[in-house]
Amino acid sequence: MFCEREPTDDGSGIQWNRAEKFYDPTEWMHHLIDHFLKPGTTARGHPGFEHFTFDHVLNGVIDAVGAEEGDEWQLIVQNNTVTTVEPERGDPDRMCEHCLRIVRSEDASCCADAETTPLWPA
Ligand SMILES: [Zn+2]
Repeated sequence: MFCEREPTDDGSGIQWNRAEKFYDPTEWMHHLIDHFLKPGTTARGHPGFEHFTFDHVLNGVIDAVGAEEGDEWQLIVQNNTVTTVEPERGDPDRMCEHCLRIVRSEDASCCADAETTPLWPA
């Protein structure tokens, strides 16, 4: 496996390092969070990890497209928990941009004035 992720310049995020392909992204996200980022990881105290803060809570959505046509899905991280969703044709669920909760429709925003992002484009 190759890890093709790198921290963003300001250290607040993770971005693809622009290698041509991205292998096993779900496994890598699990791996990164479990071993390097979340509180109480296994890498803590090991040589080479002195500068890691081990206090990260990851949230975000990655749109993924595989090599095969129609191989599309999304990788969702909520509070360090990694899940994937297959595209749903039809009304997509939406995610509140404020609290990152899944909401069922555009109108069902849970936070005042918060926009919602479609989890999968219809
Ligand atoms: Zn909300």
